[in-house]
Amino acid sequence: MKPTGAIPPGYGADARGRLVIGGHDVDSLIATTGDTPLFAYDLAMVRARIARLRAAMPARLAIHYAIKANPYPPLLAAMIELVDGFDVASEGELATAIHAGMAGRQISLAGPGKRSRELEAAIRAGATINLESEREADRALSAAEALGLTPRLAVRVNPDFELRGSGMRMGGGAKPFGIDAARVVPLVQRLVGAGADYRGLHIFAGSQSLDGAAIMETQANTVALARQIDAESGTRAPLVNLGGGFGIPYFSGDTALDVEAIGAALAGEIEGEAERYAIELGRWIVAEAGVYLARIVDRKDSHGKTFLVTDGGLHHQLAASGNFGTVVRRNYPVAVATRFAAPPGEEVSVVGCLCTPLDRLADDVLLPPADVGDVIAVFLAGAYGATASPAGFLGHAPAREIAVSGPDDAVLT
Ligand SMILES: *Cc1c(COP(=O)(O)O)cnc(C)c1O
Repeated sequence: MKPTGAIPPGYGADARGRLVIGGHDVDSLIATTGDTPLFAYDLAMVRARIARLRAAMPARLAIHYAIKANPYPPLLAAMIELVDGFDVASEGELATAIHAGMAGRQISLAGPGKRSRELEAAIRAGATINLESEREADRALSAAEALGLTPRLAVRVNPDFELRGSGMRMGGGAKPFGIDAARVVPLVQRLVGAGADYRGLHIFAGSQSLDGAAIMETQANTVALARQIDAESGTRAPLVNLGGGFGIPYFSGDTALDVEAIGAALAGEIEGEAERYAIELGRWIVAEAGVYLARIVDRKDSHGKTFLVTDGGLHHQLAASGNFGTVVRRNYPVAVATRFAAPPGEEVSVVGCLCTPLDRLADDVLLPPADVGDVIAVFLAGAYGATASPAGFLGHAPAREIAVSGPDDAVLT
């Protein structure tokens, strides 16, 4: 048997033993959307998560949501009034953010390799462009001149430090992201000299860290670096985006972050000037609020092993299969959603319907006995699920999505 990660708090069963998500049992969620596979998101959980973050962080710190973690439109619409800005990484995400109702001034566009039309779209929208190179700065300045608009420009810094223990390193050493710290001061001076609306600095050192001490150390280093760039450039950055990196306990043995301790440490670092700082988070806000549901279509034995074959798979939930930035495959938390209250009774492997050995949702896990027609739940599916998976691979239909916020709320699809 292999362990699974812990099911996040807040999920329970109804009187018939079925998993309940956002006040709705899985059968009614599936009936509402018409079929499996399905991603269901609990908006009340997202709200509670942001409320906890606000309470933990310094009072005037801005909280931005990186929409690439989950750009499902009803979720974004609910998020508009909960966060201070959206961070986007493409022209498509920019349009999605504007369509959701976020004001252009509260959007920032990051990402290497921005095309000219993306720069133009951001300038027209009044969004901040986080510049990733000097050449991109030139292109943004000339695009703005051609449009007759003043561009809002910030500099993404590739710091000399990285976020220790981070699942995906985005800073430190040679990187395609940002401009090496040593070259930032002349660029800031150039932007100011060229008449741009200089918006400040964006310093993102890593993602998916469960090491609170490492996050505190990175935040302190980031604040110090911003102050040094301010001093050397003679210009105070109006906004310093400290990045995020807050991880989620996906696997057995992982421990959730103490965000209250991180917030207290950050308050000490930025005392008196909290209003010019922001953090940007994706997965920490939404991962726990999402569940991927797939129905068992076959149950078979092979060489003494039992396989539950579902109608879902890595084409919808690549991360749970272990093929999205992990070295060793480990099990996400899983359950039999239609027998959520039943005791475990057999060891099985849960696979998807794709014709590849990579399509595994859970290996050698202990679950309540389940059969064809039962529904499997894969938790922690609220971030990097539907849009971070190769939906076109093998030609199956895309997963359905639904957002719910309570038993009496209208269901949003
Ligand atoms: C991906 C990304 C984020 C969000 O990362 P999470 O791990 O989902 O919190 C934030 N900022 C930037 C620049 C990113 O690329």
